[in-house]
Amino acid sequence: MKIGFIGLGNMGAPMAANLAKAGHVVTGFDTADVAVDGVTRATSAAAAASGQDLVITMLPNGAILRAVADQIVPAMAPGAVFLDCSTVDVESARIVAEAADKAGLLALDAPVSGGTVGAIAGTLTFMVGGSDAAFAKAKPLFDVMGQKAVHCGPSGNGQAAKICNNMILGVTMIATCEAFALADKLGLDRQAMFDVVSTSSGSSWSMNAYCPAPGIGPQSPADNGYQPGFAADLMLKDLRLSQQAAEAVDADTPMGQAAAALYARFVEEEDGAGRDFSAMLPRFETRRRG
Ligand code: NAD
Repeated sequence: MKIGFIGLGNMGAPMAANLAKAGHVVTGFDTADVAVDGVTRATSAAAAASGQDLVITMLPNGAILRAVADQIVPAMAPGAVFLDCSTVDVESARIVAEAADKAGLLALDAPVSGGTVGAIAGTLTFMVGGSDAAFAKAKPLFDVMGQKAVHCGPSGNGQAAKICNNMILGVTMIATCEAFALADKLGLDRQAMFDVVSTSSGSSWSMNAYCPAPGIGPQSPADNGYQPGFAADLMLKDLRLSQQAAEAVDADTPMGQAAAALYARFVEEEDGAGRDFSAMLPRFETRRRG
């Protein structure tokens, strides 16, 4: 396929490189000066999008996505697919999809999980919103860039799935970290705590696959000085998107709200910026009640 790729950052660059490696003809654009193996550089977003079968965007937020969409939608060929893989608010995803639809394009929102490791290895999971026809056209590319693509329904539903998943992740990580800190103070050995919880009803991905305690459970960022992994800053972004969405549809999400407030404090007032989101554990270790 002829593919335009806009936003060649930590995630976009390896995704574009994997598409080129698989034999697709990829033209890329980024406002920063980046070169990606196998990807031809265009001089503007519109130039990268023009005449392509499919255009992928991988951008920081909804405002930037909407601005880029304004530039590329008029440049794209009718019937082409506009595939946004950024994590953005549901409203921006739906606005962009509507504009694309009006211009005779097929739109998909397909945020990912799997991080930079998954982007490099081509093992991302895509959560996809949009029509069946658009999903079918993009499916071969999901298979190159990832190992799983779940079609979640109409436009915006990919973003909805992503923020609901990450709201659960933020909440369970905090619960796991505060429980470890309590266990420490109660004199319960961390390995014993892991052995019990990971096979009991308190188990979760946060405990079992990404244990926040160093030296316990499988290898995780805790074993690497809490280098991300998945940065607390990105968890904060996703939790804020969940709360923005909850407000828009009047959903009551008290735990998500509490998690967003805690990660905001951790990233903006404490030492959480640039650390993995599981570094909540050393934070709780040093704290007292109240
Ligand atoms: P990044 O900041 O490394 O990359 C974003 C890129 O977009 C940058 O290279 C930037 O120069 C470029 N850009 C900004 N404005 C632009 C414009 N107007 N035109 C063209 N290019 C522009 O971010 P990232 O880590 O690659 O993340 C991209 C998206 O993926 C975000 O929405 C993020 O939330 C999501 N995401 C990231 C991860 C992760 O682990 N990094 C995991 C899952 C999802």
